[in-house]
Amino acid sequence: MTVDVEVVLAGEIAMPRVYAIRPPGYRIAALPKLLRPGSDTILAPFLWYLLRHPREGTMLVDTGLPAEGIGFGGAAGVLFRGLKPAAETFEEQLRARGVEPRDVTLVVMTHLHADHTGGMPLLTSAEFVIGRREWRAVTEQNPLKVGAVGDHLPPGDRVRQIDFEADGTPHGPFTSTVDLLGDGSVRLLSTPGHSPGHLSVLVERENGPLLVVGDAAYTTDSIRDQALPLMTDDEGRYRRSLAEIKAYADAEPDAVVVPTHDPDAFRLV
Ligand SMILES: [Zn+2]
Repeated sequence: MTVDVEVVLAGEIAMPRVYAIRPPGYRIAALPKLLRPGSDTILAPFLWYLLRHPREGTMLVDTGLPAEGIGFGGAAGVLFRGLKPAAETFEEQLRARGVEPRDVTLVVMTHLHADHTGGMPLLTSAEFVIGRREWRAVTEQNPLKVGAVGDHLPPGDRVRQIDFEADGTPHGPFTSTVDLLGDGSVRLLSTPGHSPGHLSVLVERENGPLLVVGDAAYTTDSIRDQALPLMTDDEGRYRRSLAEIKAYADAEPDAVVVPTHDPDAFRLV
């Protein structure tokens, strides 16, 4: 069974390069200098995916940017300062592809940071597939503490929590995975470290596999060089996830591997 995939560009931002790839010998005291205006940047996209499965119909991976923008403070505020949203809102982008927001019934969330959750409130019929640790992290404390916006999140009865610890099985280099639909076409991969319960998605397409990395790596170079970003939720887990992704990419040279915020990788989808 294979799936048709379309990647959708929700916006772009000039992201300080050091945010994506931590400079050697980095110390937190150097942060203001590293993030000052005029520092070296990469043009980082914001992405979501439309999947068309022959039996399940339309599914999404992530949901793009909120129409009202992202009003964070602190380091994240500095990062999102230059955000350029796409000309169309998430809702308009969906409709342009023949999909009514209320008709979307299944959405996989790589994680719950606000630049991935903007469209969630519009998907009023959807069940959201979310890593159990991710859902716990945003519901057991102030969501803002983990980069999430509470207003974006659905009620718990529309969340299918994926318990990789209990239900995960290895797949290739990945330690813990779940076959979402039971036909091998959409496989969820536990890739924590960027956030507590981050997951990536391996999609089987007619023209070869697509690895939706999410933010488990910021760029293709990060995977090749096993380079950490400025900030992680858990550095040990981040390193392990990054190593598994690299092992997969090395073993499957024909697979398209797309970190959300890589400037170019999404063009290969
Ligand atoms: Zn992101």
